[in-house]
Amino acid sequence: MNRETDVPEGRDFLELVWHQEEECQTETDALLPNLGKKAPATMIHIGTVMSLLDRMASCWWVCRGGDHRVEYLCGRALNDARAAVRLLRFGLYDESLALSRAIGETANLMQLFTMDRSALDEWRDATDQKVRRDFSPYRVRRRLEGLSQSPAITQERYALLSSRATHVGPHTVPQSHNVLGIPFSHSRVQAEGILVCLNELATPLCVVAALGAILLDLDKDTRLRILNCARTLAVHIGGATITEIDAFHQTLRD
Ligand SMILES: [Zn+2]
Repeated sequence: MNRETDVPEGRDFLELVWHQEEECQTETDALLPNLGKKAPATMIHIGTVMSLLDRMASCWWVCRGGDHRVEYLCGRALNDARAAVRLLRFGLYDESLALSRAIGETANLMQLFTMDRSALDEWRDATDQKVRRDFSPYRVRRRLEGLSQSPAITQERYALLSSRATHVGPHTVPQSHNVLGIPFSHSRVQAEGILVCLNELATPLCVVAALGAILLDLDKDTRLRILNCARTLAVHIGGATITEIDAFHQTLRD
């Protein structure tokens, strides 16, 4: 075997990884209904909340006019969620988590705006420099704590998602969603990866939908419907999360 000529490059390499991703997606879809009661339901309720966010982002019920900043936040969260679902079905779990972390930033920002409407006006008119200084994820959490609110996405969850999925470091191990901590370099179905990604997506998504419905001042019936769907998603969030999975693995190894 000639090691150099047998390795696909260019378009051939892309076709190979796309094929691996599609196989992983088919396997994931077949496995999900067998991953307990909560996970299949979580995926379905994620679909419903995404549908509602799609309507919130596109003025489906009413166009309020103005700068559409809240609608754009809903649209960004929706697109991140669409990609996060796609990536978890491709076996790209770390990358899916990075997008859920981004939705979490929007969730906390919306929480701040809900608690303090003047913060929304302050943010709306802010320069890029002021946004970086006064509305960074850290500052938003501190501002919420200053209002006696626990941030929807806690510092612990945000830090774990950051170290696991966003920032590379000497302890980075790609796609290691298994008890042995084994990395995988290509799309491979890992049940724990599916569960953690689903639960970590559902966590900020239900917050964005619920608070978006409030910030958009939708009519009472529509608002209550969205709040109910967000609550239904929230109660289906399972125990396999970024904050619990390492301790769970440790109990299996002890
Ligand atoms: Zn509009």
